[in-house]
Amino acid sequence: MKLTSTWLAAALASLSFAASAEELNLYSARHYQTDEALYANFTKQTGIKINRIEGKEDELLERIKNEGANSPADIFITVDAARLAKAHELGLFAPVSSKALESRIPAHLRTEDWFSFSTRARVIIYNKGAVKAEDVQNYADLANPKLKGKFCSRSGAHPYNLSLMASVIANEGEAKAEAWAKGMVANFARAPKGGDTDQIKAVAAGECGVAISNTYYVARLMRSTKPADRKVMESIGVVWPNQASTGTHINVSGGGMLKTAPHKEAAVKFLEYLASDDAQRHFADGNNEWPAVESVKVENPALDQLGKFKADKMPVKNLAMYQAKAQIIFDRAGFK
Ligand code: FE
Repeated sequence: MKLTSTWLAAALASLSFAASAEELNLYSARHYQTDEALYANFTKQTGIKINRIEGKEDELLERIKNEGANSPADIFITVDAARLAKAHELGLFAPVSSKALESRIPAHLRTEDWFSFSTRARVIIYNKGAVKAEDVQNYADLANPKLKGKFCSRSGAHPYNLSLMASVIANEGEAKAEAWAKGMVANFARAPKGGDTDQIKAVAAGECGVAISNTYYVARLMRSTKPADRKVMESIGVVWPNQASTGTHINVSGGGMLKTAPHKEAAVKFLEYLASDDAQRHFADGNNEWPAVESVKVENPALDQLGKFKADKMPVKNLAMYQAKAQIIFDRAGFK
């Protein structure tokens, strides 16, 4: 009897393997709890079961690359245009043509093989006691000698800064971008270290006068009930940079279908699902971001409080195009 049930289990397992069309293998570098509900809802709507493999962006990319033609991965999801571009450059994504995705995701937020599902802005944070708001209205101001010894940043090798630099190269050209990088290095209060939240806290503590951060880190602090975080928010000001010119730099969270995807139909369905109203709300709001689909409204007190701003509508493709140049410029400027 025991033998039979073991046999039965094995037979069932191979059966479910054969019926794998109703499954989807998702490699995700997003680790938000709210994503659980997002995926459960997809299964409820379509009957397609999601197997999720989570990991760090670069590890997942490495894994997909190493698995090659045998990779079980159908979808790769991650944050930052630079990382999505890397997956594209490695030739991992398959082109997806979908009327639903084309009509829902604005043209500047998609490429032929990957799609943005949420946006975040890179803003300037300043210490209200040490720096005047009028002196930090533009990214270019961060290189102004007026801010000598006041600028703090995370590493120039980090994708968030690389994508910002890529946008400056695309908007201003390489020469101006390099002068900007050198000016920022000359203004460093300390060598680059830590993440965006560390910069915000250092600005609040007065160790730095000004820094840059993605909006969701600011929103996280705004929504925090910890007294220390409340104090941080009282000490700092937030500026939407470049409102009189190009608009504030936007980065994205997104994904695409892999060339070797065993479940291509399910994969496209999933990407289309992520662009639906409900999924958009979950996907963006889970990390205090904005939905990529412009008609979708989010009720998020922190994002409401941050208010409206003019965003740089540069195609995400351009951010991808200038990644390598961005790194060269940071290196040459000594922005470590
Ligand atoms: Fe982040």
